[in-house]
Amino acid sequence: MKIVVLDGYTLNPGDLSWEGFEKLGQLTLHDFTPADKIVERIGDAEIVITNKTPLTGETLAVCPNIKYIGALATGYNVIDVEAAKEKGIPVTNIPTYGTDAVAQFAIALLLEICHNIGAHSAAVYEGRWESSRDFCFWDHPLIELSGKTIGLIGFGRIGQATGKIAKAFGLKVLACDSYSSDEGREIAEYVTLDELLAQSDIISLHCPLLPSTEGIINKDSIAKMKDGVLIINTSRGPLVDEKDLADALNSGEVAAAAVDVVSVEPIISENPLLKAKNCFITPHIAWASIESRGRLMDIAAENLKSFLAGKPINVVNS
Ligand code: NAD
Repeated sequence: MKIVVLDGYTLNPGDLSWEGFEKLGQLTLHDFTPADKIVERIGDAEIVITNKTPLTGETLAVCPNIKYIGALATGYNVIDVEAAKEKGIPVTNIPTYGTDAVAQFAIALLLEICHNIGAHSAAVYEGRWESSRDFCFWDHPLIELSGKTIGLIGFGRIGQATGKIAKAFGLKVLACDSYSSDEGREIAEYVTLDELLAQSDIISLHCPLLPSTEGIINKDSIAKMKDGVLIINTSRGPLVDEKDLADALNSGEVAAAAVDVVSVEPIISENPLLKAKNCFITPHIAWASIESRGRLMDIAAENLKSFLAGKPINVVNS
């Protein structure tokens, strides 16, 4: 079997092994594949593995050897799964691999807002502590979490994992979700979105991007929040109206925000959050701990192994 990986770099920039795939066939690995090279690189391969490289119906039509497509991600919107189904090609995904990593990152963003560790450490290296009159100094207010209230919009896997950590910090946890569960009730109090907006000192987004959630953080919802609220987004950029959030940061209505995702990625220079006050932005890395990526790689190889054994798993277009 010829296996082609179209864009392996983001998952494995060199710190993990492709051995799991190498054992299953003749592997050709590409770090990245531009649109005009997709068909050529697939060639006569039977197995195609993609992370973000699109596989359209047109591509499938001119690559008749393809027997299996593996998405190196949970999302598979880059693949025309219906066209694949018509051709009898199973498409598999990785249902979950990074829950704990994303939850940890959401809390890391919150802690960065609370302590500005990066900026304070940089100030020490710049010599500010040496020249300080007192035994300590701080440039930003330091915030204690215990006793405050965090509201989690979206209380599935990552929301609940974030809620558990938040609870351990002594935060009161509120959650808003279309579904509730006994497990969830052990961590949080379920409330309506308006109750969550009104009562939370910190709001963290963990719902998927849907027509109903796009722009869920906007000037109207911000107006319902406490003055000086903190906002965290590790979910999807378009959940936030970035112009409205930037205005609220600049006015102080929102005291600080930290986002791992933005509306257009990679970020563009026009993004209003780049010039907003008290905003932390990271480049969509919440998922990318080495442990998460290793898990993703193992599951992707297991998906292919199961297909080759005639017992496909994690098929999204059966
Ligand atoms: P999940 O499906 O387990 O949980 C999502 C929850 O959101 C579900 O319980 C669902 O009922 C709820 N929901 C749907 N619509 C809602 C609404 N209108 N209001 C409130 N809740 C609503 O998904 P998950 O594994 O917890 O992932 C959550 C999100 O995290 C994903 O959708 C993805 O966008 C994001 N994510 C980001 C990264 C990253 O690297 N930054 C990595 C993985 C996932």
